[in-house]
Amino acid sequence: MAYDPSNIFARILRGEIPCKKVFENEHVLAFHDINPQAPLHILVIPKGAYISMDDFSAKASPEEITAFVRAIGEIARREGVAESGYRILANHGGDAHQEVPHLHVHIFGKRPLGRMLPRD
Ligand code: 5GP
Repeated sequence: MAYDPSNIFARILRGEIPCKKVFENEHVLAFHDINPQAPLHILVIPKGAYISMDDFSAKASPEEITAFVRAIGEIARREGVAESGYRILANHGGDAHQEVPHLHVHIFGKRPLGRMLPRD
């Protein structure tokens, strides 16, 4: 599957669609989710064209991977959830219901987050 440059996060990266930005550096952008599932719900995305964690883990440079992981930790500390606790989540593909085909890690926090997965 090829990267689709018309996906919504690619459009946010190009400045075509606004976002509520919380963090940016050379390799990473982070912003509030438009439909938050917790009082804190931030999306962290690489600036490179990667479909998902599968794609990113296989193709991204060490610099991109380091920047992405460090950004997640830094954002969580800045947002004040490193002490209280938070959850990170990245959906890949159909079984995980990935909606947007540009890698994004969700950061959830500022409330008790319940079970890791619903019992289906
Ligand atoms: P996924 O199911 O792919 O892991 O999550 C996609 C997330 O992107 C959802 O939580 C959804 O609310 C969020 N989202 C979709 N469109 C937009 C948008 O235009 N702006 C922002 N900030 N978030 C979006």
